[in-house]
Amino acid sequence: MLNVVIFGAPGSGKGTQSELIIKEYGLDHISTGDVLRAEIKGQTELGRIADDYISKGQLVPDELIIDMLAKVLDSKKESKGVIFDGFPRTIPQAKALKKMLNERGTDVSVMLNLEVEEEELIQRLLKRGEISGRSDDNLETIKSRLDVYHNQTAPLKDYYVTEEKHTAIKGMGTIDEIFARVCEAINAIK
Ligand code: ADP
Repeated sequence: MLNVVIFGAPGSGKGTQSELIIKEYGLDHISTGDVLRAEIKGQTELGRIADDYISKGQLVPDELIIDMLAKVLDSKKESKGVIFDGFPRTIPQAKALKKMLNERGTDVSVMLNLEVEEEELIQRLLKRGEISGRSDDNLETIKSRLDVYHNQTAPLKDYYVTEEKHTAIKGMGTIDEIFARVCEAINAIK
């Protein structure tokens, strides 16, 4: 299986690049943010809890996310590979992902780290907020999400460097330019 972790700060283009990767490589997409937003819309118990964290720009607790991910993964058993978008976001999540994939006879193939300058991230997220109406795309929540990213999520870079799975991708430029870099990285491991 070709299992890609797409990684980067909020607004780094993970969702956009994931869509293009799916088309090009026929992978399944698991976006924890999308799953959580569907839970909120469906007014489930998980959705109700998650909404509290998301609207404050905080992370949903690891146990909830890991359980949720295991269920989604089991629904994709016949897959050629999966793109993990927005997961893992903490070291415990990364360790849980490795364990879950190993138990299923596979592993993370590569972690693509989309690197984008902070000022550009804020501009992109504010712009998305105007269009998407996402409750967490306002300046105050964006700032806490970026803090959370630097404190809890960015350390995953070192984890994947140690695992020898980390590839840095310059995330500035046009969508097509960035996608060309992404393809080059994926083709290098295939
Ligand atoms: P972005 O990366 O642009 O912030 P996402 O759609 O990936 O957007 O996530 C939105 C919010 O959902 C996050 O700020 C967080 O509160 C929650 N969330 C998503 N994935 C996770 C995860 N793996 N662990 C904890 N919380 C998560």
